[in-house]
Amino acid sequence: MPETKALSEPQKALIKMGLARDIDLALHIPLRYEDETRIVKLRDAREGDSAQIEATVTDSQVQYRPRRQLVVTVDDGSDTCVLRFFSFYPSQQKALAVGARLRIRGELKGGFLGWQMVHPTYRAAGGELPQALTPVYSTVASLPQAYLRKAVAGALAKADLSETVPADAPPAPGKATSWSLRQSLQFLHHPTPEVSLAALEDRTHPAWLRLKAEELLAQQLSQVQSRRAHDALRAPALVAGRGGLHEQLLAALPFQLTGAQRRVSEEIARNLQRERPMHRLLQGDVGSGKTIVAALAAAIAIDTGWQCALMAPTEILAEQHFRKLIGWVEPLLAPRGLRVAWLTGGQRKKERQEMLELVASGEAALVVGTHAVIQEQVQFKALALAVIDEQHRFGVEQRLALRGKTRPHTDGDPLEPHLLMMSATPIPRTLAMSYYADLDVSTIDELPPGRTPVVTKLVSDSRREEVVERIRGQVAQGRQVYWVCPLIEESETLDLTNATATHEALSQALPGAMVGLLHSRMPAPEKKAVMSLFTGGQMAVLVSTTVIEVGVDVPNASLMVIEHAERFGLSQLHQLRGRVGRGAAASACVLLYAAGDNGRLGETARARLKAMAETNDGFEIARRDLEIRGPGEFLGARQSGAPLLRFADLATDTALLEWARELAPAMLDRAPGLAAQHVARWLGGKSEYLKA
Ligand code: ADP
Ligand code: MG
Repeated sequence: MPETKALSEPQKALIKMGLARDIDLALHIPLRYEDETRIVKLRDAREGDSAQIEATVTDSQVQYRPRRQLVVTVDDGSDTCVLRFFSFYPSQQKALAVGARLRIRGELKGGFLGWQMVHPTYRAAGGELPQALTPVYSTVASLPQAYLRKAVAGALAKADLSETVPADAPPAPGKATSWSLRQSLQFLHHPTPEVSLAALEDRTHPAWLRLKAEELLAQQLSQVQSRRAHDALRAPALVAGRGGLHEQLLAALPFQLTGAQRRVSEEIARNLQRERPMHRLLQGDVGSGKTIVAALAAAIAIDTGWQCALMAPTEILAEQHFRKLIGWVEPLLAPRGLRVAWLTGGQRKKERQEMLELVASGEAALVVGTHAVIQEQVQFKALALAVIDEQHRFGVEQRLALRGKTRPHTDGDPLEPHLLMMSATPIPRTLAMSYYADLDVSTIDELPPGRTPVVTKLVSDSRREEVVERIRGQVAQGRQVYWVCPLIEESETLDLTNATATHEALSQALPGAMVGLLHSRMPAPEKKAVMSLFTGGQMAVLVSTTVIEVGVDVPNASLMVIEHAERFGLSQLHQLRGRVGRGAAASACVLLYAAGDNGRLGETARARLKAMAETNDGFEIARRDLEIRGPGEFLGARQSGAPLLRFADLATDTALLEWARELAPAMLDRAPGLAAQHVARWLGGKSEYLKA
């Protein structure tokens, strides 16, 4: 049996931090640096300096006021300095005894009583000064800084840092490739003292640029690989027009498609004709009319004898989003002997069984439900198209879930269904270029005619009365109002109390008007009843906690009040706002905010509210959201497992991204060995390609 050696605590910590390989350690770039290369004289020092001095102890005593501390006075010949230690061992007291000559490093504080340092580090004076700045790494308690420094230095010497960027690659912008990877890493771990710390900090130094260029290249290579792997898959080719369903649906609509809807419908139709599975995002602002575009795509699939699945994140949403659509489609299916199947969690067993049979037999041409429809063991006869609504995170998961859901090609080859994702949260361009390089995007950039822009107002919670007054005005004109209370994740009870209180207050303030309440814990039938009163127009005001489920389409609603708006995410706020302004009436959105305990709004909360007040444009909102939150939250990286960029910043490194994007496909073609080496080095097992 091979001898197994137990790992030490620091070794375990290294693995836990993802620093198992030499290359991982080499890529663990310092958080900051300390300058131990120079000894300064106290006389020349400045307040706040992190300084290293050599001095002799002239006094050392334990004081008890205001609290127990060791107070040591040192003199470096130019001035004196007091060192304070609030916790200390006898051994330290000994090392700091009068007469000891020490090399001391710490933050210098000036003041009435002269120079001071609190808990400085120290050792015996003398010895050589290091030539380079000392790196300080991010670490954990069980991994001492000194251990990590050694590990990194060792790994840096051993790691394979051979050049993977092809010699004939175009030079990267900003001289990013003027430094080799080895030079760059050596430098970033041990910079020479005369370097501009600002250039290290803002990552504009050539060594940093090189690192970012490498990282972006790895990401692009992985994306192109993933796209090529996807291109190799086969899907049923769906050609419109055979049965005329597409045309009949168009004719049945009570409106004309907008130019943008027509354009994206054509993009999708062309995509469906191909034998390559579609992997497309349909993005368009709230209310831009994505649903009908999906229905037209479904019509193509059904017309060609295949099935289509329509999915939304929740049952209520599925119902609300697709009810209208089904109203249009169902009458056209009936003469063809086809039906619509609903699959929901709340269904009775018998009903569900019936539905599953319809799906399996193929009689259900359209299958509507939650995401569970493709994830669960639902057997389709011949699924050709899956449409996922309100999909903000576009991962490989959905694609994987679709595997095996369709019937094989006549020649027996496995086929993959087409996938259309719809979102009102557009992907900013840089994200589309980086994380979603293997995703096709169609954009609806035009709203149906007759919409009036929503006016957004920020109102302090202390002016709630005025808001109620405004509601009264709207209700008197026969308009309807949404009032949304925030979801408090930790406490459903608190949610409920808040919403119930608001509901009661509004009911009292608006006698004669019907004020309804919708919250997350209500049983589904009750929710349904409330919703239909509101959609039917009998209910004037709807107080709701179930944010996502306010996905209704009530053109008569002209006012949206969002309570504790500071607690909502930006895209959430924008989605909510999109629920008004759907008719011809002038509409408004009131963002009620309450300052925190310190009487102030947090910085990001303020940025979000400001963005809402300043723009109605979903793309601009998405861009600001990316700015405020960073790509991590945008992507939901923890869920999707997409490797995030550690070094590059999509907001500032666009030029490097463009360079990597140009280079990646050529590199895969002409230097596949280097490409593989590069991806393995940077992404290890985390490449998207390996998963898809
Ligand atoms: P979203 O993009 O937010 O999903 P919907 O598909 O729900 O938007 O459409 C919003 C509303 O606009 C619906 O009532 C829909 O019937 C209507 N609509 C869609 N397209 C048009 C159009 N071209 N002209 C007029 N109304 C339209
Ligand atoms: Mg929609």
